[in-house]
Amino acid sequence: MLEETLPPKDPREAAAGRVPFNRPYATGKEAAYMAEAVRSGATGGDGPFTRRATAHVAALAGAPRALLTTSCTHALELTALLLELREGDEVVMPSFTFTSTANAYALRGAVPVFVDIRPDTLNIDERLIEDAITERTRAIVVVHYAGVPCEMDAVLAVAERHGIPVVEDNAHGLGGAYRGRPLGSLGAMATQSFHTTKNVQCGEGGALVINDERFADRAEILREKGTDRSRFIRREVDKYRWRDIGSSYLLSDVLAAFLLAQLEAFHDIQARRGRVWDAYHDRLAAWADANGVRRPTVPEGTAHPAHLYYLLPETPAGGGALIEQLARHGVQATSHYQPLHDAPAGIRYGRVAPGGCPVTERTAAAVVRLPLFAGMSERQLDRVVAAVARSVSAPSGR
Ligand SMILES: *Cc1c(COP(=O)(O)O)cnc(C)c1O
Repeated sequence: MLEETLPPKDPREAAAGRVPFNRPYATGKEAAYMAEAVRSGATGGDGPFTRRATAHVAALAGAPRALLTTSCTHALELTALLLELREGDEVVMPSFTFTSTANAYALRGAVPVFVDIRPDTLNIDERLIEDAITERTRAIVVVHYAGVPCEMDAVLAVAERHGIPVVEDNAHGLGGAYRGRPLGSLGAMATQSFHTTKNVQCGEGGALVINDERFADRAEILREKGTDRSRFIRREVDKYRWRDIGSSYLLSDVLAAFLLAQLEAFHDIQARRGRVWDAYHDRLAAWADANGVRRPTVPEGTAHPAHLYYLLPETPAGGGALIEQLARHGVQATSHYQPLHDAPAGIRYGRVAPGGCPVTERTAAAVVRLPLFAGMSERQLDRVVAAVARSVSAPSGR
């Protein structure tokens, strides 16, 4: 039975009968791998666990190269350094994303140019990208929201027409695919997150995935404080020197050990999450129709890794009411990203693309995410479905 293989439940949650929004999953092997890293003395970056974890990440992303980093935020910063962004350069991206997507480029003095999202997938609206491009545009950054792929053929075609590289912020999307191609393999570079809230995690961690080989050598140097220490470790040079600008973006091998345990269980974790996602999608379909609530859209020819499940009421009042009613039934549901284009820092450091971001504003105000984690029990799942079914989502907005 599935229940027996789950890690022990938090007794407080069980006693209260509450379903938390997220509970970081552990496979059971994390502590043993970390102890092995500690015993071996290889606790710095780029040790044996990093090598093994990196191979998994590269394989899952379908990419020739990957480098583990301290976070997805830092991997995004590396892309900004690798693209040699300067003051006044522009980077096109969705407004409906995490702050790190914009911060990484704003830190280099570049201007995030915020584009609206599609009302169905909540991904950057590829039809609006071209109008956002100017002679200062240096990159297009896409986010596969909820791990559902962006319309990459169209995105890549615009990028190619203008000779601009594409970066995939693939924090949600490891294991997903677009027309048979793994997410993370489509842009010049991609970034992964292993933050505690992501499908596969080590508390804090990330990776830079490199598809365009032109960035590979320099990425290794920038990540190692601007030195060629990685080549020194491989005995390709006999001393290492300061070669370039850079910073310290290596993940400790102790955390890589934690991450490896999770990556080895990737398919099991995905199966567990997929089961919850599919159950929500089937069992809430009639309720959603009756309440004027939209469920996620997964375009044909794409696959997603069940990173999150959302419900989209027609109005902000509907979203707020749903979160409140679910809380009364002991189910912790939450909203998501607040738009970047009209946030204080978004106004100061960014610019909104022609046409504004009305879909982003509507979506951010109304979207509700349901609990979804690999260790979710059948009982917790039933509780969430029952709680949603007992709720109404004020379709009129009153
Ligand atoms: C989680 C997330 C990040 C940041 O990841 P960290 O590893 O915490 O730095 C960036 N972008 C998106 C879309 C995310 O969901």
